[in-house]
Amino acid sequence: MFLTLCSPGDRIVSARQLYGGTHSLTATLLPRFQIESTLCDVDDFDAIKSALPGAKLLYCETIGNPAIKVADLDRLGELADDAGIPLVVDNTFASPVLCRPAEHGATIVAHSATKFIGGHHDLIGGVLCADAETIERVRGLTRELGPTLAPFNAWLCLRGLQTIHLRVARSCDTALQLARFLEAHTEINQVFYPGLETSPDFDLTKKILGGRGGGTLAFDVKGGRERAARFQDRLRLIKAAASLGGTHSLIVHAASVTHTQLDEEQLRAAGISAGFCRLSVGLEEPEDLIGDLEQALA
Ligand SMILES: *Cc1c(COP(=O)(O)O)cnc(C)c1O
Repeated sequence: MFLTLCSPGDRIVSARQLYGGTHSLTATLLPRFQIESTLCDVDDFDAIKSALPGAKLLYCETIGNPAIKVADLDRLGELADDAGIPLVVDNTFASPVLCRPAEHGATIVAHSATKFIGGHHDLIGGVLCADAETIERVRGLTRELGPTLAPFNAWLCLRGLQTIHLRVARSCDTALQLARFLEAHTEINQVFYPGLETSPDFDLTKKILGGRGGGTLAFDVKGGRERAARFQDRLRLIKAAASLGGTHSLIVHAASVTHTQLDEEQLRAAGISAGFCRLSVGLEEPEDLIGDLEQALA
């Protein structure tokens, strides 16, 4: 999509709160094509506004990494519209059940179908929604580059869509229960979940996500890196893996899984505390998940 909309010498503006793979796209792949990225905090509207003139597009995620931050798509859509460029939104974390970004000013919407759309940890796929002309241009490039969904995986996506509303609702309900449990736990410093009334994003959750906070939460385990790694090792039902939106609950301890090369200071600079864990909530019984967290924290 970036390679379809941008040419060498172009620049994009992107939210800093990005999925790791997209972050490395802006940091390593796009520069090789002489496409530059200006990264701004997703809620720093002044910085975004002043970065937009001359840019080809504005990019963000509905719910961004790592701190599960909700984007004010309505405001970003206005800013992009004023600048005469498209707002491109990765809606993977929210899923089409919680948010349809096109209703909030997005011009192009992407989903990783690997997550809630497939929903069962058994396919890799993606969806791009845009006007017919843009899609035709993207299709031309995909024919040449090869990211084409296999027919069986496409069928699994269609099957996943039949239950997505039930799966997302369940995952959100359970995530809220877990967030409340963790918020009250003495071994936890902080919980990041936009569905909590105490979250600074709670009003945005009502405006953008219909009041539900999604299936992913993050929290900071007290006692630093080793202790958080040990907590993760002790979990029995929740598995250590980096995906989301499926039947199983998965956890990532950032310092020991996705950001292993950083020391404590570098982790802090990246906005990741030593005990930072991201939990994506599956379809298990909420009591079983709480029991698992309880025994591992103990
Ligand atoms: C997983 C994910 C992607 C990448 O999707 P794949 O299907 O794994 O290639 C992109 N954006 C977000 C927000 C994701 O969670």
